[in-house]
Amino acid sequence: MEFRISDERHAIRHKLMSTYDIILRNAYLMARDQVVDIAIDDGVIAEIDDAVERTADREIQVGGDLVGPGFVDSHMHIDKSFAACGRRHPKGNDSAFDFREIMPREEEYFAEMTVDEITENALKDIEMAVAAGTTYIRTHVAVNHETFGLQNVEAVTRARDVAANLVDIQIVPAARHIPSEESKQILHDAIELASGSESPEPALVGGSDPAGANKDIERTLKAWFDVATKQDVGLDVHIQDGGTLGGYTLDRLHEYTEANGYEDRVTASHCYCLSHLPNHHLDRLIDQFTESDMNIVTCYQSTRPTMPVRKLLESNVTLAHGTDNDRDFVFPHGNADSLEGALIESNKLHGDRTFVEDYRWFDSNEGLDQLWEMITEQGARALGIEDRYGVSEGNPADLVVFDEPSPQWAIIAQATRRFVLKNGAVVAEDGELLPEYSVSE
Ligand SMILES: [Zn+2]
Repeated sequence: MEFRISDERHAIRHKLMSTYDIILRNAYLMARDQVVDIAIDDGVIAEIDDAVERTADREIQVGGDLVGPGFVDSHMHIDKSFAACGRRHPKGNDSAFDFREIMPREEEYFAEMTVDEITENALKDIEMAVAAGTTYIRTHVAVNHETFGLQNVEAVTRARDVAANLVDIQIVPAARHIPSEESKQILHDAIELASGSESPEPALVGGSDPAGANKDIERTLKAWFDVATKQDVGLDVHIQDGGTLGGYTLDRLHEYTEANGYEDRVTASHCYCLSHLPNHHLDRLIDQFTESDMNIVTCYQSTRPTMPVRKLLESNVTLAHGTDNDRDFVFPHGNADSLEGALIESNKLHGDRTFVEDYRWFDSNEGLDQLWEMITEQGARALGIEDRYGVSEGNPADLVVFDEPSPQWAIIAQATRRFVLKNGAVVAEDGELLPEYSVSE
């Protein structure tokens, strides 16, 4: 009843005053060469036109700069955020990365942390990402039946709910040594915990390397799909093994995807092996990715310079991007900023003019456009939100106003995020979260 009254009131207000909530005037969209006005009402993009006639409660003069959709950060680990932050120098950062040291260090760290502390760090991480223009996040979260249990999922689920008016978050619980029954059980519990009745999105099954981490490709894949099919949720798994071992794992992942009718529900993160494989193997994998609509995610922190990013995109494989950055023990640097990630990718993917025919292609306007797609539309496809994503009438008004006129200039000049809007509300200005939207202490 209450809903109906407020609905009517809203209609009357419009009839009498004909005002929108917000109008962004004279904005360039990525795909148009004339500026437009974008009207926002009730959290939604209500009208896009050369010149919107009505007025608005708040009019923002974009002045010939770009308005883009909020960034999609397709790969974070916000349960680990700020784990590397010491007071003066980054802690646990005195020597170069050693995977054997990272794992015990993480377990020690999580054993000492409380749910409240992890939640607080996750919220700070979310604030950093939103201020940089991110409005959608997929985050992996560690679970461990032997040590810290479900505490990280509890913390990240809480952070997601507290920050619900800033960002949409998909949670991917990941258990190590998944073939064991205890591990499968805790993964079930984690998915149920993170997919509570209030949550907008069900959680997904996560995990790492069937061969390298779990030492049993078939049993690991079987366990992942057992949990995923029982819960009827998708998968997003780390495939980090290199060379033909990684390639073989992706072959098998494809087979399991097809056998379970899981087309378009599986994401393989990192896939370093794609930068090692000979063309005949790579081409076969690309055909398989297309057949099973498998999504690939790469992260600027760890993308190999020979990752076939252009080839994957030109083959219509969904290739999204994550910052993977939470200032943790694995990646202590960076700002959870997708635009920063795109610039670093364009440098990493330069190639070599002696050997590679697309040398510096990612510096070109077309190449920069592709990187932009990876942090926006491709991310929306990987997260399965493409039907409500983008600067189009009827979509949620999740928008970023830049101080540069195009995606190319936004990446090159690391444009200021003048305004970040989530569901039609301005939540950040000039790279800073507005104090009234602060969620951390
Ligand atoms: Zn990861």
